[in-house]
Amino acid sequence: MIMNNLYINSMKKIDMGKFVLLIGKDATEIFDYYNVDQMHGLNRKDAQAEEVDKTKGNGVYIYGWTNYDPRDKKLKAKAPYKPFLFLNKKHFKGDFTDITLVNHEAMHIAILLNNWKIVDKEEDAITQAEEYTNKIVRLLKLDKFTN
Ligand SMILES: [Zn+2]
Repeated sequence: MIMNNLYINSMKKIDMGKFVLLIGKDATEIFDYYNVDQMHGLNRKDAQAEEVDKTKGNGVYIYGWTNYDPRDKKLKAKAPYKPFLFLNKKHFKGDFTDITLVNHEAMHIAILLNNWKIVDKEEDAITQAEEYTNKIVRLLKLDKFTN
């Protein structure tokens, strides 16, 4: 696979084919990236609150986030509005839990890409998530534990 790395502000974007992998320094960057104040039920204040004061905002702690591109009004999950898998680097711990976080989001993207109709595709969706996890872990060198 050819990786197309673009840096927009400090957000790292990697085209993964069916989705974009976004890696930000904190949760506010995803709102900056899409130039929105809110999307999918979360807003910039929630993202800021988690960074500053956990008692403010809606209490959602954004370690990672997988969803449709907010411009994808028809929820087609296709180019030019591929869905995103966002990872909040601020909460990376440098140990194996970073990998389980990637796997958590990879499960979300695999299910999204199957339109949530995984009743007869459980094994396919989970295998797809496993493959994405392996790719992302290698790409970000998350197997080189720092802790
Ligand atoms: Zn989740």
